[in-house]
Amino acid sequence: MSRVLIIGAGGVGSVVAHKCAQVPQVFGEIVLASRNREKCNAIAAQLGRPVRTELVDADDARQVADLIRKVQPDLVLHVALPYQDLAIMDACLETGVDYLDTANYEPPDVAKFEYSWQWAFRERFAQRGNMALLGCGFDPGVTNIFCAYARKHHFDEIHEVDIMDCNAGSHGKAFATNFNPEINIREVTQRGRYWEKGQWIDTEPFAMHKTFDFPEVGPREMYLMYHEELESLVQNLPGLRRIRFWMTFSQEYLTHLRVLQNVGLTRIDPVLFEGHPIVPLRFLKAVLPEPSSLGEHYTGKTNIGCLIRGVKDGRARSYYIFNVCDHAACYREVRAQAVSYTTGVPAMIGAQLMLTRQWHRPGVFNVEEFDPDPFMAALPRHGLPWVETFTDALL
Ligand code: NDP
Repeated sequence: MSRVLIIGAGGVGSVVAHKCAQVPQVFGEIVLASRNREKCNAIAAQLGRPVRTELVDADDARQVADLIRKVQPDLVLHVALPYQDLAIMDACLETGVDYLDTANYEPPDVAKFEYSWQWAFRERFAQRGNMALLGCGFDPGVTNIFCAYARKHHFDEIHEVDIMDCNAGSHGKAFATNFNPEINIREVTQRGRYWEKGQWIDTEPFAMHKTFDFPEVGPREMYLMYHEELESLVQNLPGLRRIRFWMTFSQEYLTHLRVLQNVGLTRIDPVLFEGHPIVPLRFLKAVLPEPSSLGEHYTGKTNIGCLIRGVKDGRARSYYIFNVCDHAACYREVRAQAVSYTTGVPAMIGAQLMLTRQWHRPGVFNVEEFDPDPFMAALPRHGLPWVETFTDALL
């Protein structure tokens, strides 16, 4: 039995706490910490097991290291914000504890995310004998594992991957984001980017789009975006010729976003307001609904998966693997919407595989670097069934 320290008490943190609590044989003790202890206590009160709560500002590596020394966890499961990745990794290194997250580091003052900052920890984690597992949510996370699984079982070589993320749910608000608004808006407003024939190709935001008929959801318009799993999969899928990431957006969402951008509310540089510097996007986050508050009235489904083409035994093959998740069913189970659920469940499974030593090597890794089979077997057991088909569908 192990002790886990969860940092972050938002939409994803709440799901992770619920799902860890469902597996007492692995997660013997759960400690939930965030910068607002009331939020931790509110989540703890929903759980059928005693969960300790703590206060921490995870931007401060020293505070995190002090908390780790106090709690003595076997693993730190970081589901606060990407801004805290490096501070928490530093604290884990200092105290000799394993680390897992769901989103790669981005500096607060530049809307840019990449793995270089975290991959730079590889040698130090290896020397310390500790493991860091990066990007263990759904996308990144399960989408990378879908690719590793396809490569292991269905392809000799993968040539093309299209990752497709569709949220066809409705939360009843005019405008809201399904995970942290600040991180979400920074992500979706940047330039599009995909990888083909050995090079990165940039596009204008939302410039490339296609209609795809998602199983259990129907046809939806999806837009090409840059997403962090492209960076690691390009390195870890030998023979790859093209990889792209697509996400669906409604016209209503895109119109709101355009207006917010046009009036300057998505800016991340400080502006003076009544004598005080404020960052407009942070102000916007403060007035938008919290992702953890959306679940109660959410209806509809998400469908996230990978369309993969390549060769097996010398013949071309096309393969589609996906998960469908129902917002209302997630709420009934853990009082969360499906975007938090599809992120939190894989984070718990990754932690479980690390703690039981099924996935454990000293160093810093992306999820596709491990055997996908135990993870794929665990997904349906913990609420995320997947479907695979051989298909002629092309994008
Ligand atoms: P929320 O905004 O709902 O929650 C973030 C939590 O982190 C809040 O409890 C927040 O506290 C806390 N927090 C923020 N800053 C600090 C700090 N300095 N110290 C301690 N705690 C802090 O976001 P989500 O739960 O929706 O998302 C969590 C993470 O999951 C994000 O990194 C997001 O990028 C990632 N994600 C990954 C996905 C994937 O598939 N891989 C998909 C969706 C999300 P407070 O409430 O006080 O602000």
